[in-house]
Amino acid sequence: MPDATSIIATLAAIKHSIDVVKAVKDADYDLDKSILKEKIAVLVDSLLEAKIQAGETLDILEKKDKKIAELENILEFKSKLMRHQGKYYEFDENGNPKGDPFCSMCWDDEHKAIFLNHIRDNSFMCPKCKNIYGRTIYKSGSY
Ligand SMILES: [Zn+2]
Repeated sequence: MPDATSIIATLAAIKHSIDVVKAVKDADYDLDKSILKEKIAVLVDSLLEAKIQAGETLDILEKKDKKIAELENILEFKSKLMRHQGKYYEFDENGNPKGDPFCSMCWDDEHKAIFLNHIRDNSFMCPKCKNIYGRTIYKSGSY
């Protein structure tokens, strides 16, 4: 949902523009040319303000759409992961882990799927957070 303040400002600028047009219309031909020019200047300023506010609302909507898409991607990827021996794996049709493991610390903290590097035997290290994973023992001890 866009920021309510920018929508309210857009609507206020549009309403002000309409009020100016109504004032000119109601004045019929009784308006002095200088007053008419002044009203038109106010109308242009008000329309420019409405355009700026609409642009800001569009920016907010685009950022929110991007964030929603990012969260949808995270949710979709999360549905493909399983935790096994302290690490995350994608799983096959039988529910068994497959492929290389992902760092559970990075996934749980930031939802970043970082492949672990195999460093020796059954030990892996995350290239991002440097956490080391054994078969079931972790360097940080927090998992
Ligand atoms: Zn990590």
